[in-house]
Amino acid sequence: MEARWRSSAKPVQAPKTTKTVSFEEVSGKASSSEALPLSLHLTNAVFFSLFFSVVYFLLSRWREKIRTSTPLHLVNLSEIVAIFAFIASFVYLLGFFGIDFVQSLILRQSTDLWNSEDEEENEALLRKEDARKIPCGQALDCSVTSAPIISAQKVVDEKPVKLTTEEDEEIIKAIVAGTTPSYSLESKLGDCKRAASIRREALGRITGKSLSGLPLDGFDYESILGQCCEMPIGYVQIPVGIAGPLLLNGKEYSVPMATTEGCLVASTNRGCKAIHLSGGASSVLLKDGMTRAPVVRFGTAKRAVDLKFYLEDPENFETLAVVFNRSSRFARLQGIKCVIAGKNLYLRFTCSTGDAMGMNMVSKGVQNVLDFLQTDFPDMDVIGISGNLCSDKKPAAVNWIEGRGKSVVCEAIIKGDVVRKVLKTSVESLVELNMLKNLTGSAMAGALGGFNAHASNIVSAVYIATGQDPAQNIESSHCITMMEAVNEGNDLHISVTMPSIEVGTVGGGTQLASQSACLNLLGVKGASQESPGANSRRLATIVAGAVLAGELSLMSALAAGQLVKSHMKYNRSSKDVSKTSS
Ligand code: ADP
Repeated sequence: MEARWRSSAKPVQAPKTTKTVSFEEVSGKASSSEALPLSLHLTNAVFFSLFFSVVYFLLSRWREKIRTSTPLHLVNLSEIVAIFAFIASFVYLLGFFGIDFVQSLILRQSTDLWNSEDEEENEALLRKEDARKIPCGQALDCSVTSAPIISAQKVVDEKPVKLTTEEDEEIIKAIVAGTTPSYSLESKLGDCKRAASIRREALGRITGKSLSGLPLDGFDYESILGQCCEMPIGYVQIPVGIAGPLLLNGKEYSVPMATTEGCLVASTNRGCKAIHLSGGASSVLLKDGMTRAPVVRFGTAKRAVDLKFYLEDPENFETLAVVFNRSSRFARLQGIKCVIAGKNLYLRFTCSTGDAMGMNMVSKGVQNVLDFLQTDFPDMDVIGISGNLCSDKKPAAVNWIEGRGKSVVCEAIIKGDVVRKVLKTSVESLVELNMLKNLTGSAMAGALGGFNAHASNIVSAVYIATGQDPAQNIESSHCITMMEAVNEGNDLHISVTMPSIEVGTVGGGTQLASQSACLNLLGVKGASQESPGANSRRLATIVAGAVLAGELSLMSALAAGQLVKSHMKYNRSSKDVSKTSS
């Protein structure tokens, strides 16, 4: 039956007129007779009249024969003609109205299937009826099985008109009524784009809000299934700008930045120019280890300490590493740091994760070790696989001090001339501003890893463009920016030290088409063929290099008193917003 949901949902042909077409007109909900041309309406009327008049005629003849005791099979010419007329009109009327009736029966059946609350029964039925054999997202080609709603989209008078098939209409109604869960659409339909389209239409009806600015078309919904986003209804567009070339470790990079903040790309671009004219920057990776810290509880603090000593004993490390590393061919345990809080123990595992950012990988490894420890420590109660000492997506000193993901330091010597001509300021002003703003000012603010001007601006923009987890911007943006006058005060030494850059070039959002294209631009797409992890490590150094450029430029703008002026130029639209807002 599900096959019917999918395959028979043919696009509805939109009328080739320029008049605005209503939803009802095109949805296929109209009865067949409504769809008939005028002449057929007349034919219908003729056959209706004929049918009822011959029935009347034959019945009265029948009554007459019974009264006169005439055998019924003896018929005259007028009766023969009447019988033929009866058969002809009956067949005609059955053709038009009988089919509608039969169709409505079939449709009701399928709706019942859709609405059935017994999921298992549905699944069994669907399997029986040649349901989707290919799991959505694995081998289905959405571009071939295009969603009926969208494939039927026409532009009439420059306005998009959505056309739904009767089947889609039934599903939308079931979602609006709450009898079909919206989340089940992908698995039931086996067509992710159609699912998104139906969900979106249902949402519009439930909320009564327009989603017209949110695009639906032009996105591969199969690619996000089970990996990036659930219950999609479209996608948000973020412009991608390019800063560069960034000359880093002798190589040039064009850095993609996805942002809606005016000035940001322009400013980073100016920083790249200053770095390039000064001979480039160099970036060094200090550490590469993703962390996960479960919390376990014992009956006594002493037992928690027993486990801590066991885990920190170098003699046990090899065994634990073997158990941990089974999680992936790329996961390699580097160490376990234990922190006690009463009878609770936090175990901060650190491991290398190849080219993946590594959260999944490290979590799997940690689970292996916890299962293994349960034999020797049966009284260990695992409270949570993550106990926040990790620490993921929250400001925490542990990441600032110990590092998480990739720890990178990046530096450049900017020539005095470049500082004056490109950055429009002086080495002296920059050094003073850095000391009073990024160091002293941040100290006075009680900053945690925030000893910089705007590292998170660059980190977020590059993360979004390259498919990183933007929520990890929190610890990834930890950065201390240092500036010092060198070469007898003529040039500027600038550095950024970033202990927690969490990036990957495989997994998560990195495999999506747009993000993958941005990684490709940087030459770090996918898994490194030379050595596992080389791509993600290089990406981390690029992030630090871009931050260096951003810091240099913004600090210069501040030192030169240009910030407000440039923001008024690039970050404020001259459009009269009051006229555009609805
Ligand atoms: P994360 O751990 O960052 O959440 P995923 O688990 O989504 O990442 O993706 C990592 C997957 O990619 C793993 O299944 C791993 O086996 C595979 N993989 C392929 N090549 C590499 C590589 N060079 N480095 C790391 N993982 C890789």
